[in-house]
Amino acid sequence: MSENIVRTNFIRQIIDKDLESGKYQRPSDIHTRFPPEPNGYLHIGHAKSICLNFGIARDYGGRCNLRFDDTNPTKEEIEYVEAIKKDVEWLGFKWDDLFYASDYFEKFYEAAIHLIKKGLAYVDDSSAEEIRQMRGTLTEPGINSPYRERSIAENLDLFARMRAGEFEDGAKVLRAKIDMASPNMNLRDPALYRIRHEAHHQTGDKWCIYPMYDFAHALSDAIEGITHSICTLEFEDHRPLYDWCVENADMPHTPRQYEFSRLNIEYNVMSKRLLTQLVATGIVDGWNDPRMPTISGLRRRGCPPEALRLFCDRIGVTKSENMIELQQLSQSMRDVLNEMADRRMAVLDPLKVTLTNLPHDELLEIANHPQDESRGTRSVNFSNTLYIDRADFKEEANKKYKRLVLDGYVRLRGAYIIKATEVIKDENGEIVEVIAEIIPGSLGKNVEGVKARGVIQWVSAKDAIDITIHNYDVLFTEKNPQGMPGDMLDYLNKDSLTVVYGKGEPALADAPIEQAYQFERIGYYARDSKAEELVFNRVVELKDSFGE
Ligand code: ATP
Ligand code: MG
Repeated sequence: MSENIVRTNFIRQIIDKDLESGKYQRPSDIHTRFPPEPNGYLHIGHAKSICLNFGIARDYGGRCNLRFDDTNPTKEEIEYVEAIKKDVEWLGFKWDDLFYASDYFEKFYEAAIHLIKKGLAYVDDSSAEEIRQMRGTLTEPGINSPYRERSIAENLDLFARMRAGEFEDGAKVLRAKIDMASPNMNLRDPALYRIRHEAHHQTGDKWCIYPMYDFAHALSDAIEGITHSICTLEFEDHRPLYDWCVENADMPHTPRQYEFSRLNIEYNVMSKRLLTQLVATGIVDGWNDPRMPTISGLRRRGCPPEALRLFCDRIGVTKSENMIELQQLSQSMRDVLNEMADRRMAVLDPLKVTLTNLPHDELLEIANHPQDESRGTRSVNFSNTLYIDRADFKEEANKKYKRLVLDGYVRLRGAYIIKATEVIKDENGEIVEVIAEIIPGSLGKNVEGVKARGVIQWVSAKDAIDITIHNYDVLFTEKNPQGMPGDMLDYLNKDSLTVVYGKGEPALADAPIEQAYQFERIGYYARDSKAEELVFNRVVELKDSFGE
């Protein structure tokens, strides 16, 4: 899907100004990063950040690093590191360098010592609760900790002993000495280091003190020479601390932080913490459950990376908080898949049709894509017993019904026009079979005097394969489950998965996993990567029927 979206946004405008003013000399000096914490799988919100950061580097000819912000060993795992790498690559981006914040633990430690020596950091023995009480409120200043005036020598000694493992978790923290009366709470002597006797997925048991996010993030950006450090709006209030860290640690390079609004999509939660909960409670079938708003879930569902990138381009980047309609994501998938997906035939509620005048089976060549000959054809066997969808036949109907009626004509996709001549019912009066005849000479051609009401799909009964269809709906009944009172689990959609058993054309047995097809007149489907039998996940419906 090629779409001429002008990818301009306020961040690119800032970059353009920085180049005009000479702050940066060449577009190739622009350096961004995508810094996920490896504490879960990436979601569509991260896709927005990836497209933004990597997209800028690509378009300016600059660089973008993938950096794991791995400063909290408690929640982080190597499984997540691997999953994140895979998702970024699948989305179509290549990092210039791959780093871990933990690569810089020694440098962070030195920077902390530098701050202590400048009288800008101190070891505090207060408990977490005491520190909270001394912090003050938005309307009242905080009060200084009794440990705030420790000597530099004492601080240096205690900090070294923190590193050496002499103290228990929580016994001490290293705090920045800024201003306990600052109107910005983030500047009221924030913690820079805490003690945590826990093994780390990269550094093992080497460290038992770990840097706090704001300190580590600012210094990592500075160490890597990031020019524009892009993050979400909730970090706006942290920017003064970010700048304080870079400046006072005397880093050789000064990155600038810019904030944009998070992506939220209706009927979804967009936070690793909440998504972890869905996985842990078994409500979904893992991080890549096709209903999950994770990149891996979308991939398993059959969403192509092009569709996710198109979606990110279309929603743009701003500073205003908003909730994106689910239809925007669906429409991006449809627009891409309509061009990219080969067509196949499947019947979800099979009704037998017997043809009385087909002397022998015929092998038909059917186009894979109606508007794109280059996608070739496939051979499909046409025999005298077919299945059509039950909804595609009525004994009688008015002209609006563009399908098969008794004594009426319909074209079978890629095959003949047929005429229904007789209906067979069971003892309950339910139709069990339709007797029909082909119109000779109508294969791929019109025949004079014969007017088909419409085109329907079919499968040959003896060749068709059994397929299982998974139709997905949203996971939540509320547009903003995070904003509702109580727990998000109170708003689960109990019908988010519907299983249907149908018949598909034989070529579907060879469908590669996660590659979407258009099942003619039904929707876009891709073979599931986990199920052993032939399960097809619905990527998206052909038309928007949401809320009907
Ligand atoms: P989560 O709450 O899901 O863990 P996070 O912001 O803590 O989100 P990180 O792993 O720290 O997750 O995020 C990596 C990058 O992705 C950050 O720069 C962050 O700003 C960005 N990001 C995370 N969620 C979104 C979102 N919903 N929309 C846009 N960007 C996001
Ligand atoms: Mg986080």
